[in-house]
Amino acid sequence: MPRTVITTCKPCRRAGVSLCGRKKCAALKRSFPPGAHGPTRRIRLTPYGIQLREKQMAKQIYGVKETQFYNYFKKSTRIRGNTAEMLVRMLEMRLDNVVFRLGFCVNRFQARQMVSHGHFDVNGKRVDVASAQVRPGDVISVRPKSRTSPFFTAAAEQLKNTQLPSWLSLDAGALSGKVVAEPAGEELRQPFDPKVIVEFYSR
Ligand code: ZN
Repeated sequence: MPRTVITTCKPCRRAGVSLCGRKKCAALKRSFPPGAHGPTRRIRLTPYGIQLREKQMAKQIYGVKETQFYNYFKKSTRIRGNTAEMLVRMLEMRLDNVVFRLGFCVNRFQARQMVSHGHFDVNGKRVDVASAQVRPGDVISVRPKSRTSPFFTAAAEQLKNTQLPSWLSLDAGALSGKVVAEPAGEELRQPFDPKVIVEFYSR
């Protein structure tokens, strides 16, 4: 099964929220499902359909395949605390997501690619695994070799506009960021409902 890569905004419009992270997402402009039937047609979902939709949405947002996503769920049931919250926390603390949150990349797909192409260090050591989990105290920086590339000189400009979550800190000049804490509470809010995803796997 290939990883779901969102190349059009069709899934965004289906979900009714922007999944792609683009500023000009079509879901914002055309807030009705895709297809020839126009804005009037609405589909009534079964309870299963709702659970499935929430899970698929989460997978699309983070660009995670089913097996890996299910592994996140299994791990989150083993951690003490709220399973739904732990699931989102693990997704948020993926290295590619953190690179996106810090504002180095415009969306998670780009972040994933920049990480797997080896442009980032974690605590001074190259990490090219997009799914790597970061921990509080970790420093994520653009590798010295990559800093002068046109991509990152342009990114440095955009870093000023980053809306940084409070669990991360950013040193725009040094092209580096730090995980200050684990995301919690409001910062784990998502367009999908993680509780429904837990229900889906607990059927
Ligand atoms: Zn979109």
